[in-house]
Amino acid sequence: SPRRTLELRLVPYGRNQRLLIARDISRTQRLETIRRDFVANVSHELKTPLTVIYGVAEEMGEELAPEQPAWAGSIRLLQDQSARMQRLVQDLLTLSRLETGSLAVEEDPVDMKVLLEEVCAEAQTLSGEHQHRIELDAEPGVFVRGSYGELRSAVSNLVSNAVRYTPAGGTIRVRWRADAHSARCGVADSGIGIPREHIPRITERFYRVDKGRSNATGGTGLGLAIVKHVMHRHGGWLNVDSEPDQGSTFTLVFPARILEHRGGSSNRHLA
Ligand code: ADP
Repeated sequence: SPRRTLELRLVPYGRNQRLLIARDISRTQRLETIRRDFVANVSHELKTPLTVIYGVAEEMGEELAPEQPAWAGSIRLLQDQSARMQRLVQDLLTLSRLETGSLAVEEDPVDMKVLLEEVCAEAQTLSGEHQHRIELDAEPGVFVRGSYGELRSAVSNLVSNAVRYTPAGGTIRVRWRADAHSARCGVADSGIGIPREHIPRITERFYRVDKGRSNATGGTGLGLAIVKHVMHRHGGWLNVDSEPDQGSTFTLVFPARILEHRGGSSNRHLA
């Protein structure tokens, strides 16, 4: 017979007794595995055709659009939408890799100050003509033991959300600080904010506060789900604090046991 998984819970019962509740979650887990594998396989199969479509669209943009101005708009649409589908497929693959949980987190010492400098520079490019002020205030010499790639995608999702959900000219503050118990990476924006009742659900796959607006910003709906998984895999978590029309602060919290403190800026490149 197949292996069974039981979930055990001890609950108060009567005055000074406890009740042990066992629930068989084998079926739920099997279905979850099937769902994950299916999504991963479909995403993988979509990669090649999408690469081809995107490539052809790019070629049309270079060769055809200049000669056939009437088609330029349609060609642009084809490029944008195929690029968007590629991001979606990439995020689906990333998420299914993170969700399997079997992969051990790599243990590079990641220099967060350097990582944040890279991500902020990229975000400034993403902001482009919207001219957001992106301010970085990072404590040097605080390293996180973990996966550089995963941490980078977590931070990059937060900072690009801040750009996408903040009107032109707004301010985005990125901060990195450590104390004895933890280190925190805060990304604060002066954007549209999130109504309180939505906050508990925004890390769910494809959950959007305002579907129309999110589609226009070109997101995949998977960003915060990725952030949450990355943090759990590193033994940390994500805090969200937001006020509609005032802005949002997303904070990555890392426990002290995965931190390393290194003195001096000469260690910058050790990672
Ligand atoms: P999306 O691709 O839709 O941005 P995410 O998973 O990154 O997907 O975010 C989920 C939803 O949370 C978004 O659709 C948006 O409604 C809300 N959200 C995320 N970041 C912010 C932010 N900085 N300000 C306001 N709303 C945000």
